[in-house]
Amino acid sequence: MGIGPAIAANPFANPSTTPFINALLGANALTQATATEQLTSSLTFKAIDATLGISGRPQSATGQTTLYTGKNAAAFRGKHQSAFAGGSLRRLIEPYGMFRQVLELGGSATHANCYLPSYFEAIAQRRRRYAVGSLLTLTAGLPFRGLAEYDRGEAVYWDITGDIVHRTHGLPVRRPIRAAQELTAIATQHHLTLFESFLPDFAGHAQDYDQAQAALQRIDTFLEQLITQRPANLTLILSSDHGNVEDLSIKNHTLNPVPLLAVGPEAPAFEAVTDLSGITPIMIKRLRSSLCSYGAATEKSIPR
Ligand SMILES: [Zn+2]
Repeated sequence: MGIGPAIAANPFANPSTTPFINALLGANALTQATATEQLTSSLTFKAIDATLGISGRPQSATGQTTLYTGKNAAAFRGKHQSAFAGGSLRRLIEPYGMFRQVLELGGSATHANCYLPSYFEAIAQRRRRYAVGSLLTLTAGLPFRGLAEYDRGEAVYWDITGDIVHRTHGLPVRRPIRAAQELTAIATQHHLTLFESFLPDFAGHAQDYDQAQAALQRIDTFLEQLITQRPANLTLILSSDHGNVEDLSIKNHTLNPVPLLAVGPEAPAFEAVTDLSGITPIMIKRLRSSLCSYGAATEKSIPR
């Protein structure tokens, strides 16, 4: 999702699409005409660049790799690469992935998304390749969450409500508020938690206004719960690999900037981010300082 002009084909221009975000950031904050930087002691909101200095439309694999490594993957590849992380992107994800960096600091990291068995079957049969978030998890040696975790409320499906898990495996759906409570519970147990949703991208490619608005309303309710019930020491960071759903007049991704929203005690640290590559380095820097001071305090408390 990007920040684009308030045209009729932009669902963010309709005040009923994201009532919570509008209340948080001001009416139409997610449309270019009114998007302004907001910086407080607990909130940073700004539009950041997703084109990364490379011509052509931004794509998922290079955008996500850039978000999750802090390295400009589009410049590394010399182009925007779509969908899957095969080939040379692994050369960035494996050494610089944010999960691995957190583990190397002695912290804990997790991917909160639920993965279906059919995903791994398709990969084993070479019918599909790993997406960036999957490779991020795999190369850090972290476990994937699956149906058992979903059933216990310890994994969230990318559609937030689990409609797809219900259709394919008969497990119960949950309301967005419940999914947000489950994600928060996961996040309180880890230094870094990733959740990915592909709802806006699918709706954008479908060019379906009603689907797009329903998807964004679902995300708005999910975010309302995450932000208003946020534990005091937790910082939530929302961003996107590229624009798409904010212009339903075209089938493709857009060149628009994407939102960076940080809410919580670490929010001011993200003020200087200007593009997708800026997020992971700051997360790691802030985690390094908090883990090191925690480590020093723990060490001091050990009797010698
Ligand atoms: Zn797409």
